[in-house]
Amino acid sequence: MSTISPSIQTFYSREEQSSFERGRSNALNSRITGDGFTSSEVEAVTDPLPQSWKPPRSYERCPISLLQTGPFNYEISGRIVNFSNNPQDQGYHSLVVSDGSGAIAVKLYYGKASDYQLLLGQRVTLWATFIANSAQGSSGNIPFCASSTKIYPGRNIATHITLYKDPPDSDGHRILRCPLDCNLRDYSYLPALMTLKAYLSTGYDMAEGKILVCVRSVGPRRTVHSKKRQCDLDMVDVSVFDDTATCILKLWQDKVHSAKTWIPNQTILLISKPTCREEDPQSGLGLGYNSIVEVDPEFPDADWLRNKVKSMKIKQSIYIPFPVDIWDLDLAIHGPNRALFTIADIEDQVRNPEAEPDFTGKLNVIIVEMGLMEQWRKRTFCCFECCGMPVYANKPVAICKNCDMRRNLSPNPRIIGSMIDESGMIMAGKLVWHDDAWTQLFFGGKSSDAPIANASETDLVEQSWEDLTIFDTAALRDIEERLLYTRITLTFGWSSQLERLCIMGVEW
Ligand SMILES: [Zn+2]
Ligand SMILES: [Zn+2]
Repeated sequence: MSTISPSIQTFYSREEQSSFERGRSNALNSRITGDGFTSSEVEAVTDPLPQSWKPPRSYERCPISLLQTGPFNYEISGRIVNFSNNPQDQGYHSLVVSDGSGAIAVKLYYGKASDYQLLLGQRVTLWATFIANSAQGSSGNIPFCASSTKIYPGRNIATHITLYKDPPDSDGHRILRCPLDCNLRDYSYLPALMTLKAYLSTGYDMAEGKILVCVRSVGPRRTVHSKKRQCDLDMVDVSVFDDTATCILKLWQDKVHSAKTWIPNQTILLISKPTCREEDPQSGLGLGYNSIVEVDPEFPDADWLRNKVKSMKIKQSIYIPFPVDIWDLDLAIHGPNRALFTIADIEDQVRNPEAEPDFTGKLNVIIVEMGLMEQWRKRTFCCFECCGMPVYANKPVAICKNCDMRRNLSPNPRIIGSMIDESGMIMAGKLVWHDDAWTQLFFGGKSSDAPIANASETDLVEQSWEDLTIFDTAALRDIEERLLYTRITLTFGWSSQLERLCIMGVEW
């Protein structure tokens, strides 16, 4: 305990003395340790978060835009939209908290910096006893930030902060997501919002400027040596995009943790005034003192981007898993209503608004182009998508370079180039294959030669498309040559959600 107390003394600032003394006298009944601090007091300073805190007086709940300066007891709820730790270890974190109505600059004093794991977008509640103008709090010109306060958890028992970890389906997760400067009741547009392309070309030069982007991928955490600061710094590259451009957002030091909570192709960021190197805006964006990051905001433009991302993802993704739970595969392949379609019939049916949305049928085609050897040479025979990035290998399992997770891969649909019938052509790279259909394609053709039907069925159970990945080049070339110009019957299902033709079975 004696090793801890000197650090407490250094935080024993004059302005907080009275409330701290009050805290001590309240705790008179607790065991007094040798250095004069009760164990609960030491804990409160060194580990303020786990302690359950009860408000010692009544606090008024107040939107941030309506806070009055002066000695008032306020309960303030919002989300962290920016923060920085001080490299000189001044003993506090600087936070900016927004509730949509306004923002407040918060100095959060700590026993040690690691007491708090701050995350962008995290919901917080503050219990404050004094509100100052933000200019007094030296927070400069952070947009919509008119006030500031100081929080001393554990030292001044009248001020407190709670950082929430809300589970995804909870009310806490849903609330406080309206962006700053956004009139949801009569919404037409968000002031100063521009496309990423516009921001990177000239927008960064303007006084105001906001971008609304989706996270594409989060790179591995890296350590970079800073010559200027003479130390190693943590950093991570986050790839972000909208419908006009893609760029890198660099996060440094304690903001690296925030990126780890972001989900590729899902997390939306509304960023006001991201920093940008004027001589080279394409090199990427960063977060500065005046930046504001609103994570997963709720307003019409964000809904629009979410939908846009969904359709862009389907168009661009190299791997789409076969959709489960749409069709009864056995019924579609062997059932009584097996309609034979041509490629043109399928196109008509997709455009027909009265047609059944996820219809299935049979399709008789000739493979006129193979890409098996090409994919093998490019080492892209199998593919998957992890962390928003493609994972390729010539093996059915691979380790994602980003998250180090072992992933099961599927055959690359580009193994087949194109297929035709008398009515049209299908570029096979867009098809979504069931694993069983691949196995039937590669090994089913031999069953017609097999004298005993049962034996061939046993073969099918034992063989799998994965066997191809241990074949040598000559054997693979044989398979490619055997498949080229053969006629096969596909059982397909049209997925209206994916807008893709899904192949569930192959017959010879
Ligand atoms: Zn950290
Ligand atoms: Zn991954």
